[in-house]
Amino acid sequence: MIEIKQLYKAYRHRQVLHCIDLTIKKAGIYAILGPNGSGKTTLLKICMGLVLPDNGDVYINHESVRASNHYRKLVSYLPQIARFPDNLKVQELLRLTELLRGKAQRKEAIIEMFGLAPYLQQSFRNLSGGTQQKVNLTTCLMYDSSLFLLDEPTAALDPVSQLRLKEFLLKEKQRGKIIVLTTHVPHLVQTVADEIYFLLSGKIHFHGTVDQLVDAYQASDIEEAIAKLLMHQQEKIKV
Ligand code: ADP
Repeated sequence: MIEIKQLYKAYRHRQVLHCIDLTIKKAGIYAILGPNGSGKTTLLKICMGLVLPDNGDVYINHESVRASNHYRKLVSYLPQIARFPDNLKVQELLRLTELLRGKAQRKEAIIEMFGLAPYLQQSFRNLSGGTQQKVNLTTCLMYDSSLFLLDEPTAALDPVSQLRLKEFLLKEKQRGKIIVLTTHVPHLVQTVADEIYFLLSGKIHFHGTVDQLVDAYQASDIEEAIAKLLMHQQEKIKV
């Protein structure tokens, strides 16, 4: 369970998050959408204690993320940009993660899912962007956590890996997990998301299902609904 209460964050004079309230109790896949700079990454980083809010708090299984860090054992977080010591080999990186976080429950299965076996002895810096993202994903998904916070999980992934990831997330949901993800891929949202939170100018502008968003903007699919939402907003700003 994750509860975000009255969250505010500004960087200097720029208000990035403005009174965000959000509660997720049920297993499912929850997509946080919004244009670049709308605060999605900042929101996930606050949930992990990587950025401090100015006001408000996040509770994971009723535990305040500002008060302690025990909750981190329950969460698997995927950062948007993988920053690893890039001279290490993939196998060494995964081992290092296990030394820091404890033994992973399903490392081999995730390596197989992304076809990473041929790359285990290669240095991280020599990998393509897509393969680096698979390593990033492996360090996160190899833990059988109850909550996943995934920042742009499909970035740079090839179509086969995107499909495998999608199937994996759906199975995790059936196993009772809560998955919160940010993405720019409308198709992923349309096919997996149970609920959407659309961030605009630091506020939750829309919360509901994909069908509700599509209906609200009389669109034929989510891509069109998002485009109409943003155009509508731009027109409001001009007036
Ligand atoms: P998104 O993930 O939706 O693209 P971010 O959360 O990354 O948005 O960024 C929201 C805003 O906060 C952007 O304008 C970004 O430039 C700004 N921002 C993010 N991190 C910092 C930081 N460490 N210092 C100053 N501004 C930042």
